[in-house]
Amino acid sequence: MMRKYSFKLFSSNIRNNPKIVEDGMKYVSEHADRMFVELMVQKETSREDLRMIKDCSSNVEIRLHAPHHLMNFNPGNKNLEAENRRIIEHVQYAADLLNAKSIVVHGGCGQGIEVLKETVRQFKLFDDKRIVVENLPVVAEEGLKLSGNTPEEIAFVQEGCGCGFCFDFSHALCAANSLNLDVEKQLAGFFALKPDVYHICDGFVDEVEDKHLHFGDGNYPLEHFLNDYTAKDAYITMETGRGVPVGIKPWIDDFEYMLKIEKNSVTQNVA
Ligand SMILES: [Zn+2]
Repeated sequence: MMRKYSFKLFSSNIRNNPKIVEDGMKYVSEHADRMFVELMVQKETSREDLRMIKDCSSNVEIRLHAPHHLMNFNPGNKNLEAENRRIIEHVQYAADLLNAKSIVVHGGCGQGIEVLKETVRQFKLFDDKRIVVENLPVVAEEGLKLSGNTPEEIAFVQEGCGCGFCFDFSHALCAANSLNLDVEKQLAGFFALKPDVYHICDGFVDEVEDKHLHFGDGNYPLEHFLNDYTAKDAYITMETGRGVPVGIKPWIDDFEYMLKIEKNSVTQNVA
């Protein structure tokens, strides 16, 4: 087994940038043994558009990300339960259609045990074995705070509803900085939860906000993250770059960067 890396596409890209979907799917299918696609399923995306994405995905393995707080999804808020369930049902339709084995879902906005308990309650209602909860930074946009910042909080959610776990390195580091916790201890604690999937990007080690930088544009010890804190058969989404991408070249560079710093890879053993 080898690690697999993903390009990150948004379902809206089939309308606002069909070329990136076409080029991305083609590249990933040509590297299918080492690559997959993580698709963010936006709630505005029609079933017809999802089928168009399926039609150009041929032998590409697709995993999903559900909408988050910027898209009105917040399982920490009881009043949003009906809306949250509608959003998840749409993602579940996409997961069935695209044979996705995992769906990354964020826990609730806000902090404290009540938010975590409500997150567990709603995750139970979603009732889907494919759901993996993602660790989040403390600080979001406009002073908003998020939950699921530490291994203990993620373990609480997992124990409560039996979901999987998506380990986001940048979120872990940002949260540790916000909470004045030891970064290495936090990373080791998250890795000990045996993540199902991973998110990685570059950034600056002293920051509290995730910048989604391309590899090499920040000072994260990426070699250490990758080789010491991911499984050898890990599914790793490269969450690099912001906004609608112009072309896939920067992502190809990121993919090649990962292969280069990865130890125990086939190419390196041969060399
Ligand atoms: Zn996420």
